[in-house]
Amino acid sequence: MDSSGRLILMAVHAHPDDETISMGGTLATYAAAHSSNTDTYVVTGTRGELGEIVIPERDNPEEHARLGETRMGEIAAAMAALGVTHFENLGFRDSGMVGDAGNDDARSYHQHSTTDLDGTAERLVRIIRRVQPDVIATYDDFGGYGHPDHIAAARVARRAWEVAGDPTWRPEAGPAWTPKKLYEVRTPDSQRDKVLALLESRGIESWWSVPKEATPEELEQWHQWRAAMACPDDLITTRIDITKQLAAKRRAIQAHATQIKSDGPLLVLTEQDYINLGAVEQYRLIGNRLTSSPALPESDLFAGLR
Ligand SMILES: [Zn+2]
Repeated sequence: MDSSGRLILMAVHAHPDDETISMGGTLATYAAAHSSNTDTYVVTGTRGELGEIVIPERDNPEEHARLGETRMGEIAAAMAALGVTHFENLGFRDSGMVGDAGNDDARSYHQHSTTDLDGTAERLVRIIRRVQPDVIATYDDFGGYGHPDHIAAARVARRAWEVAGDPTWRPEAGPAWTPKKLYEVRTPDSQRDKVLALLESRGIESWWSVPKEATPEELEQWHQWRAAMACPDDLITTRIDITKQLAAKRRAIQAHATQIKSDGPLLVLTEQDYINLGAVEQYRLIGNRLTSSPALPESDLFAGLR
């Protein structure tokens, strides 16, 4: 809670664009621009400098050399679209996709979080102790889809959740602060199946489409990966209705222009399509320090705190 009594959500992410894709509607819902009694902080681990560039005419060495700066500009524009005024970067280097050389770079988020989890988490703990969030939201253990930086973000957020309220843990990182609820943003199986069916009915390929040319072994791996990207519906504890924020979320997605194709699955679906699919962002409550457990399922990340 901040000095004016507003409840605060802190979203812990890996790269610019993840915040918008996974929970942009939620961030907008709770940003001070849309609510007088809540506020939103976004923390990103890296600048995403090893990402792909999806615009062919910009996919060149010069653009890649400055991709970190470009993406920080893109997240600034996305946050403006969502009405989020507070975002910070932990300053680690993008690790690249699984198996990339960037995984081994000593400056990478992956390496830092693997070799020195507490030292890595301290950067987030400093922000938590300063901002004093009531609720933290991040990824599941698989980081949503297995990216090393997403897994790092999830581990760092969990470690920070454990220690931020302990006054004996690195007191030099600020006075202890105890967040009350911890969430994973998740896609339940039913939602994945609905989105995939709609995309396939329109001939649009997505990350959930079965690969056309794959060996049986690759296909088996792909099925395991796809299963890990979603979760059984009964794990979902919290559904945030983002109907009123769909237009803002779309503008924020468009702001991440180097990362998200204008004719790709996220932008070809219309606002009405999303409403038909159920305009919700979904979460699993994985940590709760409220004295009385909130009634589940919830429709508010701050349920029990208001
Ligand atoms: Zn990412």
